[in-house]
Amino acid sequence: MSKIEKLLPNFNELTPSECERITFEALDVYKKALQNLEDAPATVSDFLEPWDEASEQFDRVVNPVFTLMSAIGGEEFDALEQTLDEPMTRLATWMNTNEKLYEKFVALSKLDLDPETAYLVETELKEFRLGGIDLDEQGRKDLEEVDLEIASIATQYGQKVAKMLGEKVEVGGKEYQLNNFTNQLALSDIDDPRQREELLDISMNRGFGGDLDTRDLVLKMAKARHKRAQILGFENHAQIVLETETAPSVEAVYELLSDVSKAALKSLEKEAQVLKKRAARDGLEDFKASDWLYYQEREKKDALGLSSDVLKPYLELWNVLENGVFFAANKIYGITAKRRSGLRGWDDSMRVYELEDEAGKSLGIFLIDPFTRPGKSGGAWMNSLIQGYSKTDYESIIINCANFEPVAEGEEKFLVWDEVETLFHEFGHALHGFLSKTKYGSTAGTNVPRDFVELPSQLNEMWAYHPQVIENYARHFDTGEVMPTELREQLQQSKTFGQAHSTVEFCAAALLDQKWYSNAEIDQVDDVAEYERKALEEAGVSSALVPPRYRSTYFPHVFTIGYDAGYYSYMWAEALVAECENWFRNTAAQNGDGGLNREAGRQITDAILSRGSSRDPQESFKALIGHDASAGAILSRRGL
Ligand SMILES: [Zn+2]
Repeated sequence: MSKIEKLLPNFNELTPSECERITFEALDVYKKALQNLEDAPATVSDFLEPWDEASEQFDRVVNPVFTLMSAIGGEEFDALEQTLDEPMTRLATWMNTNEKLYEKFVALSKLDLDPETAYLVETELKEFRLGGIDLDEQGRKDLEEVDLEIASIATQYGQKVAKMLGEKVEVGGKEYQLNNFTNQLALSDIDDPRQREELLDISMNRGFGGDLDTRDLVLKMAKARHKRAQILGFENHAQIVLETETAPSVEAVYELLSDVSKAALKSLEKEAQVLKKRAARDGLEDFKASDWLYYQEREKKDALGLSSDVLKPYLELWNVLENGVFFAANKIYGITAKRRSGLRGWDDSMRVYELEDEAGKSLGIFLIDPFTRPGKSGGAWMNSLIQGYSKTDYESIIINCANFEPVAEGEEKFLVWDEVETLFHEFGHALHGFLSKTKYGSTAGTNVPRDFVELPSQLNEMWAYHPQVIENYARHFDTGEVMPTELREQLQQSKTFGQAHSTVEFCAAALLDQKWYSNAEIDQVDDVAEYERKALEEAGVSSALVPPRYRSTYFPHVFTIGYDAGYYSYMWAEALVAECENWFRNTAAQNGDGGLNREAGRQITDAILSRGSSRDPQESFKALIGHDASAGAILSRRGL
């Protein structure tokens, strides 16, 4: 039994009530540990290391709890989440405004520290300032009050959206499980235009009225965060968020999004003409937003001969994971994944693996929970239950969750291409955790700015298309035959197909997010739909044919906690991704292998993936690439 597997929680025992008990216990232990440090000498070994360790010990207990809240959900976990809002927020406020702890960091900052330690201390001092350390008594009280309100709104909003996703809707006598985003994947298969319109309508009206109305929460959240910004002396919430991001300012974010969306809108115009013509041949004169995906799919099939039906038999879930995702990680990072059938997750459909480096040293345990269940949060994500760092011998326990439609027991699950990319993407986040080699837990793995965290994940998607990787995993399930070259070439070309549409969708959602959190007059706003309409118009991304990827009423990234004023991050990181892809294909390539080699893996691990935020992530990026990234890199990557 390896060291790390002993730390794998027994998920059966983690019932909601047990989760509640251990979380309250951990809160208590954590606070006491910090109180003990209030009078410790301000040195690295007496203060900083124990401070870091206390936080890591706390995470070890609460990370599995929060993971189960999202992955299992349901009434009892929902109730627990609500119960924990207050004590978690109070602890955070207590820490952020703790003068004694703050003074330790100030004292540390005056010592002669190694660069990694100095960077951590500097980052923490900033966190204190953003957490209200400079406020007077009244200011701190106000801040705590508004933070409690934000936590409570976020929980209510998140739970309502999770319920929306659990509901099935009926259109034309057929049941549909809605995707979390606006444009439903099913739209490309529905032949009747009225039914398409009805389905998109249902999707876009989620949260507007009914039991799961979230409009009030949207308004309350935008206003609460604005109030919080003012208490802290900022003009708006977006400014606070940008303080700790790689992007330099709110203006820089607007600039990137508007540069990219302008280019995308131009291409969109052209694509719309093609699709409209095609629709007209079907006798459809009034081409609507709900018709876009349907005709795009047909156009794609004609132009590239590609459809998901042709691809599917080559894309069996476990085969893609084990012979595709893991294979690429082996070639580049020297990682071997061994199935550990004896280890269990929280659902029988999950698989558990132990990862080892090429010397046979364990990097930790990887769990994957691929299927949708009622109660589970939407989308796909990575969580670390334990994030390795120097004190844990760099061993981690990391999970990937997705929402693939389940199949009957004993049946094989075949993926659509998007889902293949999802597997590579989420494992890219996992690699960021497993390859981390930082001294401190607080800076390890994915503990980086959120506009940087999507770099390793989006970058890992490139290997899904690599000829040698495809050859290894894209095999016909019945015949074992490798995906024909023609199909592979079509896949390669399909990367830039329909990009105008998805780029506009994305930019609209990202700009909407910025508009909610950078408006000085947000207190006057009382109509969500009207605000959205105006915001999109002002941002120059209003299009009758392309609704935003999320509307405010079902946009948990932005109205819970995580990507508020930060949805742009995916695009920001994509500029970095584009540069790194070019680096793999050109600088790091050996004998035309496109960078699929161990040496490339070593270099990018050393510069970026092992570093977490043990130094400025922008510096890590530059250490590999040598210069900053630009919006132009995104446009050429997307073929715009
Ligand atoms: Zn991601």
